[in-house]
Amino acid sequence: MAVRIAITGATGRMGQELLETAANRPDVVVGAATSQVPDTGPVAGYDLDAQSALKSVLTREDIEVLIDFTVPEATADIVEAAIATDTALVIGTTGYNEQGLTRLRNTADDVPVLKAANFARGVQALTALVREAAAALPEYDIELMETHHNGKLDAPSGTAKRLLREVEAAREQSTDGRTHGREGDAPREGDEIGVHAVRAGDVTGIHELLLAGNHEELRLTHRAEDRGVFAEGALDAAVWLAGREAGWYDFSEVLGSGGE
Ligand code: NAD
Repeated sequence: MAVRIAITGATGRMGQELLETAANRPDVVVGAATSQVPDTGPVAGYDLDAQSALKSVLTREDIEVLIDFTVPEATADIVEAAIATDTALVIGTTGYNEQGLTRLRNTADDVPVLKAANFARGVQALTALVREAAAALPEYDIELMETHHNGKLDAPSGTAKRLLREVEAAREQSTDGRTHGREGDAPREGDEIGVHAVRAGDVTGIHELLLAGNHEELRLTHRAEDRGVFAEGALDAAVWLAGREAGWYDFSEVLGSGGE
């Protein structure tokens, strides 16, 4: 049976992509799509409900999983609606502060929650490769570059932060070693990790980790060529999450399941 889903931020880049992608999949049915922007016409053929009516919409349409790619500020309402209606959450939104993350983690006491900074399969593989390379080349300098479209709000990207955590774990160092951009007299120091966020045009998303030393360089690069890759991953996560017990889940569990 197809999983009944709702999508918030339906007018956004990812919201629209999710609606278009979902329309071509037999394993999901879009029961509702909401927008914070008033008086929007249909998006991808779906009539939109007001974001403020989210709770009643989830009940009315018997939604099993809510997929959210909006902004961290929307979390309070989304979490409240999900708990009140016993709806599972797939969260693609990035840029949370500690308080927002804690709120999401606490929500997992009541409903299933799966949050991923990146729903591309290639980025899951990249994450493991980054950890391995950082551990295998402990003396090499590391710099992380990420490029996104000019409308992206948070910097560095959620994926970049995830990759940085992998490097820091592999090298047993703290976040203090991160250097965000350089200007003026700014030579590299010790084990610092340079982090560079580039914003231009409509680039979907590029992440590159550079490891250099010993007269050689290694570059690990992921390039998302279409937002559909994130939408497919998030929909896979929604199908996997439907009917599970309350808890905090990771996208790697979805991929490891062999499409169960
Ligand atoms: P966007 O700016 O195109 O769309 C944002 C949407 O959120 C819009 O529809 C807007 O109306 C809505 N919105 C804004 N404030 C809101 C509020 N207070 N309540 C409810 N809705 C609100 O952005 P986008 O490119 O679609 O990205 C959205 C989020 O998804 C970002 O955090 C981005 O980093 C993240 N993202 C994650 C992945 C992933 O794989 N996890 C991939 C791409 C983007």
